[in-house]
Amino acid sequence: GTQRLHNFSAGPGTLPTSVLQEVRDELPVYGTAGASIMEISHRSADYDAVEQSARRHLRRLLGLGDDWHILFLQGGASMQFHQVPLNFLPPDGHADYVLTGRWSVKALREAKLLGTAHTAATAEDTDFTTIPDRDTWDLSPEAAYLHITSNNTVHGTQFSGDPEAEVPIVTDASSEILSRPMNLDPYGLIYAGAQKNMGPAGVTVVLIRDSFLARRNDDLPTMLDYGTHAERRFNTPPVFPIYVVEKVLRWLRDQGGVEAMHTLNQQKAALLYNRIDRTDFYEGIVARNARSTMNPVFRLHDDALQPRFLQEAKAEGLVNLKGHRSVGGLRASLYNALPMEAVEALVDFMDAFEQRHG
Ligand code: PMP
Repeated sequence: GTQRLHNFSAGPGTLPTSVLQEVRDELPVYGTAGASIMEISHRSADYDAVEQSARRHLRRLLGLGDDWHILFLQGGASMQFHQVPLNFLPPDGHADYVLTGRWSVKALREAKLLGTAHTAATAEDTDFTTIPDRDTWDLSPEAAYLHITSNNTVHGTQFSGDPEAEVPIVTDASSEILSRPMNLDPYGLIYAGAQKNMGPAGVTVVLIRDSFLARRNDDLPTMLDYGTHAERRFNTPPVFPIYVVEKVLRWLRDQGGVEAMHTLNQQKAALLYNRIDRTDFYEGIVARNARSTMNPVFRLHDDALQPRFLQEAKAEGLVNLKGHRSVGGLRASLYNALPMEAVEALVDFMDAFEQRHG
């Protein structure tokens, strides 16, 4: 068929249908520009208004004060694994990293290529099915920053809220940004690829507190220096992704903002986890106190039924439920734009599947 299905993709993830329709309507001609948004200058008044609106909405939705810079960069969240230590790892200092999954392991690897980075805590001993208890983190007050991955897309774990530390925290919020209100106080820098909760792939949102930015290293390559982009629009930004992000942010405001979205996200996750827990036919994979609202992972008690589960789910219009290849099992990503009806349809299908095969 050609209709939209219930899309549980971990990323790029589902986007609001209304946003896609707006994009379609504006695609050949944007406003009075006489061309699409992709075909006009990034210095034009039309594009400038789009980008300013995206900044304004992001600032309001997350409660970012004037002391926060909003950067729209390229290279994905993966570029940030390198750019963060390049800017903030001092030649004679170090940074602390909490390892909660394959993305934080990758972030640590890049830091170690550039300088000294310590593992303050790791969940590797539990195959990343837990978040190390805050009391056990081995933190240094001299660290330039503490890096965390607040939601672990692959493993389906999530920190409960915003941790505290003596030093500025840098967080990879790729798969949870805008899914809940944040306490910004502990953070110096927040980064997130757009392609889960904000828009299409191609732009990475980097939020930097001004006092943290001021601590960066000297003589950085121009394009990799956060200061370059905090100061001005240095080069051609990813115009089209930013244009879509602006629409997603407006949609989010219309839904009631991050507080309303958080409530809905908790309800969506509770519905699915309660179904997983109700019988032994399905099994959760991670520690209960580490369960992610964004990427619940689970499996069938009888693993051999999984291909059938995926096949029958697809026939019901429920797609992209396969777990990450490193974890196996199933994963249902419940990003902001995935409606409650999709989770209800999944849970109904899980009931019916158990009745047929349990
Ligand atoms: N961090 C997290 C938490 C992710 O989920 C991902 C992508 N799935 C990345 C980093 C890498 O992002 P990108 O592909 O934008 O480089």
